Amino acid sequence: MEKVDREFQIFAKPVGALCNLRCKYCYYLDKRSLYPGEEALTMTDGMLEKYIIQHIEATTDETIFFSWHGGEPLMAGIDFFRKAVAIQKKHKPAGRTILNGVQTNGTLIDWDWASFLAEEKFVVGISIDGPGDLHNRFRVAPGGEPSLSRVLKGYDILQRSRIRSEILCVVNSYNVRFPLVVYNFFRELGAKYITFLPLVEKRQGTKSGVTRASVPPDEFGRFLISVFDEWVERDIGEIKIQIIDKKYIYNIKATRNQSGLLKAPVKGSMDRRIAESIDAHLTLNVTDKHDNVIFNGSTVISGLEMAGDIDKLKESKSGK
Ligand code: SF4
Repeated sequence: MEKVDREFQIFAKPVGALCNLRCKYCYYLDKRSLYPGEEALTMTDGMLEKYIIQHIEATTDETIFFSWHGGEPLMAGIDFFRKAVAIQKKHKPAGRTILNGVQTNGTLIDWDWASFLAEEKFVVGISIDGPGDLHNRFRVAPGGEPSLSRVLKGYDILQRSRIRSEILCVVNSYNVRFPLVVYNFFRELGAKYITFLPLVEKRQGTKSGVTRASVPPDEFGRFLISVFDEWVERDIGEIKIQIIDKKYIYNIKATRNQSGLLKAPVKGSMDRRIAESIDAHLTLNVTDKHDNVIFNGSTVISGLEMAGDIDKLKESKSGK
């Protein structure tokens, strides 16, 4: 009988929308108002245990992965996560593996956190939008103060503690103009895994249908091309970029090892078609100097609802 793939992901938010930052593009802080009058928003012990049991039961893979998000999930405190790990161990079925990942803004990470996260082998995603003002323009503290230095302090502790960390970069209408500044900054930080997430915030009543901080799809496309061209020259096999790093990366790496082809000039290109659903279809190709295709991967980025740009893009596509 054919095996049905039941792969799925659940993000648990142990403190709901609670966060110690006030990023200007945050879509989630407002959700605090869904629980008026409730003082403590931390997931109760009973709910935590119920969730862990149900998640274990629902996971069919050998590895059971827990993703902790926010708000800022570290605001739940180390003891909450100690409890979570103890409950996971109590209910872990024999022969299965349990892993944890936490997505954080990084500002609360200290040596105590690092020692716990390292011991329990957490994977830590940390949100950084680039160096200096590229990060600080939107990612600020409640008083408007920049947050980057606090984030980098946390990131440094993670690195020194050899905790597997991944960078999540929100690409917005500002940092999209500086793809190589952003990418090279992450490389200098020693990043091994990077996710670029396009910012698309709906805003009714505006011409484009989205906020000004949202990234226009064609600019996001150009951003990815620049990053891709840099990555393909220098970092294949060293840095994983989530949107590019499909199964093809292994083929590229094998190709390079076998023939040294990537020493020859390579180029990335991207073809974007606008579908009715306003998705962006990205096709990335790498060719050697003889135009032989040595890499060809496609991906679809959904939800780029840049209504204001659609007509322009359609026109340029039809050559008007
Ligand atoms: S760190 Fe995340 S949850 Fe907190 S304000 Fe920024 S985007 Fe929102």
